[in-house]
Amino acid sequence: MGVTARVWPDAGSRQATLLARLDLHAPRDLVVHLPLRYEDETRITAIDAAPPGEAVQIEAEVVSSEIVFRPRRQLLARLRDDAGGEIVARWLNFYPSQQKQLAPGRRFRLFGELRGGFLGVEMVHPRLRAVEKGAALPQSLTPVYPTTAGLGQATLRQLIDAALASVPLDDPLPESLRRRLNLPAFADAVRYLHHPPPDADARALIERTHPAWRRVKFEELLVQQMSLRRAYNARRAHTAIALPPRHALTAALLDRLPFALTAAQRRVTEEIAADLALPHPMQRLLQGDVGSGKTVVAALAMLQAAENGWQAALMAPTEILAEQHYRKLGAWLAPLGVDLAWIAGGRKKRERAAALDRLRSGECLLAVGTHALLEDPVDMPRLALAVVDEQHRFGVRQRLALRDKGAHGQRPHMLMMSATPIPRTLAMTHYADLDISVLDESPPGRSPVQTRLVSAARRGEIVARLQAACLAGRQAYWVCPLIEESEALQLKTALETWEALQAALPELRVGLIHGRLKADEKAAVMAAFVAGDLHVLVATTVIEVGVDVPNASLMVIEHAERFGLAQLHQLRGRVGRGAAQSVCVLLFEQPLSETARARLKVIYEQTDGFAIAREDLRIRGPGEFIGARQSGLPLLRYADLEADAELIDPARAAAEELLATEPEAADRLLERWLGGREGLLSA
Ligand code: ADP
Ligand code: MG
Repeated sequence: MGVTARVWPDAGSRQATLLARLDLHAPRDLVVHLPLRYEDETRITAIDAAPPGEAVQIEAEVVSSEIVFRPRRQLLARLRDDAGGEIVARWLNFYPSQQKQLAPGRRFRLFGELRGGFLGVEMVHPRLRAVEKGAALPQSLTPVYPTTAGLGQATLRQLIDAALASVPLDDPLPESLRRRLNLPAFADAVRYLHHPPPDADARALIERTHPAWRRVKFEELLVQQMSLRRAYNARRAHTAIALPPRHALTAALLDRLPFALTAAQRRVTEEIAADLALPHPMQRLLQGDVGSGKTVVAALAMLQAAENGWQAALMAPTEILAEQHYRKLGAWLAPLGVDLAWIAGGRKKRERAAALDRLRSGECLLAVGTHALLEDPVDMPRLALAVVDEQHRFGVRQRLALRDKGAHGQRPHMLMMSATPIPRTLAMTHYADLDISVLDESPPGRSPVQTRLVSAARRGEIVARLQAACLAGRQAYWVCPLIEESEALQLKTALETWEALQAALPELRVGLIHGRLKADEKAAVMAAFVAGDLHVLVATTVIEVGVDVPNASLMVIEHAERFGLAQLHQLRGRVGRGAAQSVCVLLFEQPLSETARARLKVIYEQTDGFAIAREDLRIRGPGEFIGARQSGLPLLRYADLEADAELIDPARAAAEELLATEPEAADRLLERWLGGREGLLSA
């Protein structure tokens, strides 16, 4: 329609802006802008034979059309097909010209879903194409592309066709690899997907199981693996301070610990020790379920730095957790004569200044703190190891800031710890730039936490049980509902809960902890709970991560239906840390949404963090799951980590092979898929 076929619109034009919104910046990007779905316009279905709920094409003549105003302004057209079947087409948004177009006697092809309506069978907002009687039908499926308002399918198709004609579609994948994996050539695959031939297997195209789709998905995974591999190699090219194990301080700590390491702890400690001995920055993720004992592993790594005369810092996401690490590490290190600095906001000025001095002079080698560690006044001139606890709670930027604090401008070794396990497929695709250690064993002597789902209507019974348990010498957490929209409201609820529990349990000492308390107030409350001076700790989600009080064996979570799966698992992990049988009561309010029901079912049935993470991934999809990482990593567009899991291993192997043997082919593949965006991956 007067649009001259051109390869790319002018920079700054409206069309270019719309394309940019779809992350399309050059013809190259259009080649892999593949159909979202296909519509079958190769057939005409008789109105009376159309299956309900399925998109079909019909051909019919207008009987009448009118604009009506009830219940709201809309355009209605009555049409009849050659077999005598009738439908009503309905538009809620329309241009005046549209009614003119729908003049009685004119013939159209309508594409849409038929459904029973008030006026008989109807199609709402069908796609409409005027035709002459006997006009030929298209010979192939019609692709439908992801687009944005203002950019029509026809325009996109034109641009894509121009791109297919102008962009070289050569195949960087070696023939042998293609043959081995039974993949079609790239050019054939994308042409097929953009223009399926008349005899195409429609089902395989629509379900994306066709070999052409497989080729595209494989290539996407391959590109992802290659760019992660490159980021990994780039890191190996940096130097870091080698910290060989000297078995001095580490051995002394092991001697004094009141427990023996689990086999898993020994294994990962060795993995980390070996990494630290290398003159390249370690970048290791230590995954271990809640309570698996990551802290002592971190302490051993830090001591390995110290016994070499270098500094190490441990950063935790909350003040409570940092404080707890400080206490725990402090108790472990003091008998060894190792000094530990505490760096967080809201400390007494003088103490803080003294700690900073000790770190700056190198007199003190080890530090624990919150993100306050990242601030300027913190100067650790001999920093060679940074440990980040609950790493998923920090943004990329904060991790980079820590990395930039390395001694002599070198990168410190990084140990990231997380209790949110990443399913294997995700780890291999989105975290492949890290080395991963897994603590897959819990310290002995724990009994699994019993989980109970209880309707909030039975809150009174639960309070009575809690009272009995506390009078018998146990301690309990009472977790207040999460109110995402308003911190003020959340605080108010916590205060009310605290008052109500105090009133209901006059013979018990009930404490309260929440995010608004000052640092030393928080510390004092936690200390009282640890010491057993408080029976019940009413808490907001500030206790979600890491807090460790073994005598607490009962947890009540109010409005459990509002929490995410990972959060519930983390919270529940606060109990079950001692030898006593622990119970976690999830109070829920009815009615439950379908996802809330699904989540509660998972948390009720599963105690294994890895299984929970897999379910979480299934319920939420990988996009949101990874969202927590705020990484800016391009997500996969076509490959599906679940459906296409079998492609990941071959893609990984092919990535290594290609980078090693055909670096130019690798470059061309990266260029095709990522354009200039590869830099994002190195964070
Ligand atoms: P997490 O992995 O959740 O950070 P922690 O490091 O806080 O777990 O450990 C949980 C508890 O288990 C702590 O009290 C810790 O001292 C204890 N612990 C760690 N390792 C062992 C072990 N091998 N045997 C017994 N207790 C252990
Ligand atoms: Mg921890």
